[in-house]
Amino acid sequence: MTKTYDLLAIGAGSGGLSVAQRAAEHGARCAIAEVHPGALGGTCVNRGCVPKKVMWFAAEIARCISDAPAYGFAVAPAACDFAALRARRDEYVHGINGWYRTYLADSDIDLLAGAARFVDSHTVEVGGERYRAGHVVIATGGAPVVPDLPGAELGITSDGFFEMESLPRRVAVVGAGYIAVELAGILNALGSDVTLLLRHEQFLRSFDAMLRETLMEEMVNSGVTVVPKSQAASIRAATDGTLDLICAGGEILPGLDRLIWAIGRRPNSAGLGLEVAGVALDEHGFIPVDDFQNTNVPGVYALGDITGRAALTPVAIAAGRRLADRLFGGRPERRLPYENIPTAVFSHPPIGTVGLTEEQARATHGDAVKVYQSCFKPMYYAPMEAGHQACMKLVTVGAHEKIVGCHIIGPGADEMLQGFAVAIRMGATKADFDDTVAIHPTSAEELVTMR
Ligand SMILES: Cc1cc2nc3c(=O)[nH]c(=O)nc-3n(C[C@H](O)[C@H](O)[C@H](O)COP(=O)(O)OP(=O)(O)OC[C@H]3O[C@@H](n4cnc5c(N)ncnc54)[C@H](O)[C@@H]3O)c2cc1C
Repeated sequence: MTKTYDLLAIGAGSGGLSVAQRAAEHGARCAIAEVHPGALGGTCVNRGCVPKKVMWFAAEIARCISDAPAYGFAVAPAACDFAALRARRDEYVHGINGWYRTYLADSDIDLLAGAARFVDSHTVEVGGERYRAGHVVIATGGAPVVPDLPGAELGITSDGFFEMESLPRRVAVVGAGYIAVELAGILNALGSDVTLLLRHEQFLRSFDAMLRETLMEEMVNSGVTVVPKSQAASIRAATDGTLDLICAGGEILPGLDRLIWAIGRRPNSAGLGLEVAGVALDEHGFIPVDDFQNTNVPGVYALGDITGRAALTPVAIAAGRRLADRLFGGRPERRLPYENIPTAVFSHPPIGTVGLTEEQARATHGDAVKVYQSCFKPMYYAPMEAGHQACMKLVTVGAHEKIVGCHIIGPGADEMLQGFAVAIRMGATKADFDDTVAIHPTSAEELVTMR
């Protein structure tokens, strides 16, 4: 007999877990289908945010070790024991996987192991069994893209980055998004010789110009070779086991231990039987949804990376929780607004950003835009010659100088932004920032003292 649920989520990543957890809290009978049931948590936990942040912490420690002599510590440069770092990192990730397994069991959420496929719009087949649900949520996420080039399979993606057993001596990262920038920064700080290849002139092209220009300078100063306007054409294996990357212009980057493709992610929508369910896709394979995560089929929803909007863990979580509140919590108005989503880039130094870039604000609001900006050397670097700089920008609009964008790069920017994002969401103006007493001495105080 076909088992029936109130809600069935496809994918036990950030989105699927969140919608089922919240729906179960509201008393709904829930199940989650997951093709990798041993790796609950999806991309973020297994191949994304979590292991990435562990690697970023390791990179920050490498930086602190090199800064230590300036503070009187006679610390010699130390190489990272990559195998030990990986073992600790994976242990942490497995702990999270186990935590989710226990949580699902304790919450009476059934875990259906296997690849899910629609049989009709409200029936899903997993591992040869059929399950029906009044509400089906597609949260299957995405996967890294490997280009269609000769020898491309010799490279790895961000997934392969987390499987590396040793630190590559010489590595090329191809891509211009935040994942490319983050992986290049981590490898450089840990001691690899890193070349970052960009198709255009700049990376992080959707970010405020101040952020990308400052980061470019910082990355180049810290030893990353950035090659703009280069297009990979093919890869070949050399006889010594290294790789040669051949670019469209004929230039060759030889002797690579690793080549990492970080050129984007594609949606996991193939093989789901969406055509049987009648769920529409866009031309890239993402599932379009309205403001309430509804697909074109009543009772079928999509959220997280599969929708192609703001591919971030907290976005998938927030959309999932709000959808469950709407369906089972008696709150029909609940939905996730996609404006003012704060985010960080775990580069060196990190970035925190929310709202409109200066360029976007000027395109929409023209002369009503007023910008405040400040660049300085954080106090931490006072005892040393070198050191990252920090830059901050507030983008305001109108006579009341409502803050519509806040962009920070510098040590601590990732942690700094969250509170400011609350203020901006609440409609803070420049006067509100100015009226807030500064915390001294910090870098963050610059945001409430800008002129
Ligand atoms: C390298 C990297 C770093 C990142 N860093 C950050 C960060 O610092 N901060 C941040 O907010 N975001 C970060 N992200 C993005 C974040 O990981 C994603 O936005 C988030 O995981 C999306 O959640 P999701 O639920 O939509 O999909 P996922 O987490 O990808 O989960 C989808 C799940 O569906 C399963 N699945 C797929 N097809 C099927 C099927 N047919 N049947 C059953 N199960 C299926 C998959 O196995 C997977 O478990 C990073 C991503 C990457 C790749």
